[in-house]
Amino acid sequence: MGAAAFAPYAANELKSRGRRYKEPRSAYRGEYQRDRDRIIHSTGFRRLVYKTQVFVNHEGDLYRTRLTHSLEVTQIGRTAAVALNLNEPLTEAICLAHDIGHTPFGHAGQDTLNACMKDYGGFEHNLQSLRVVDVLEAKYADFPGLNLMFETREGILKHCSARNARELGDVGERFLKRKQPGLEAQLANIADAIAYNNHDVDDGFRAGLLSLDQLREQPLFENQYLEVHRLYPKLEDRRLIYEINRRMIGTVVTALIEETRRRLEDARPTSIDDVRNAGKPLVSMSDDVYAQHVSLKKFLTRHLYSHEKKLEMTAKVQVMIRDLFQAYTEDVQLMPAQYAAEAASLDEAGRARVVADYIAGMTDRYAMAAHESLAG
Ligand code: MG
Repeated sequence: MGAAAFAPYAANELKSRGRRYKEPRSAYRGEYQRDRDRIIHSTGFRRLVYKTQVFVNHEGDLYRTRLTHSLEVTQIGRTAAVALNLNEPLTEAICLAHDIGHTPFGHAGQDTLNACMKDYGGFEHNLQSLRVVDVLEAKYADFPGLNLMFETREGILKHCSARNARELGDVGERFLKRKQPGLEAQLANIADAIAYNNHDVDDGFRAGLLSLDQLREQPLFENQYLEVHRLYPKLEDRRLIYEINRRMIGTVVTALIEETRRRLEDARPTSIDDVRNAGKPLVSMSDDVYAQHVSLKKFLTRHLYSHEKKLEMTAKVQVMIRDLFQAYTEDVQLMPAQYAAEAASLDEAGRARVVADYIAGMTDRYAMAAHESLAG
């Protein structure tokens, strides 16, 4: 269904490596459309609405959450997928699910849970996203997880250590053989970075943590600033930032589409396996725009993600996640019945993994309530 319209190097469901558990085809939907629908109907996806992207949910209603971030990633991914004749439903599915395994409280939550799990194989949110769709979603009678197509799972798993790759089987293979994923996966990966780079400028400015003068030191911002200022010299800050932001996204996405077209013309892949064997990613921006994009990313790391206001919250999050982890590993009965029962049947490492799954699934506010109830 629908597969004929895409380029030969796009993922094609008729040539897919398929699902882990065989299922009859759907009469009216393509297989990647089905994956997208399963992701949207999943519990993990709904939880993203109350999970932190950068700003903790209760800090303000206008900031991005992990859900609105995922939607922005998706629309950027879809735009480029259509322009490049790639498989749009697959791109959409990967983008929607890419953060589905993220902990509460953003990277502070992820890093703390990883530290708690250091003797038990660690915790990595990207690997957890695959675990959510492969194992943890318990909805279907015939199989664990969402039983997604290989190419969707391949796209969700962005990076992976050699040790984990060996345990993951088919979907981990490319990390051992140093191959590329399909173009839709490559695209979703870059769409993620484009989305957060740009929306964090907007959120950081709104929060008063980034100033216009600071932002103007960034060439990607400054070039658009000069253009908007020339056209609308008297624009108030809120509209000014938005007019700059939309142009920044436009600049980067245009550079991405054009450079990728150029690389496709050079490499001339005729199948997704040619893409996997290409030796380097074919989805990319031109060097000059990429340098501006990376410079902005570094700027945000320095001035927003490690802003002292953010670090105050990080310290609180570390205490909360550590306390929860310690309490649940010491007494698994403090967790809901299905987690407690599973944990009780396992060894120490297995118990820790169940606790990590439970904590990672929490929304910010659920984690805060759980922490309060420990004290009570
Ligand atoms: Mg993301």
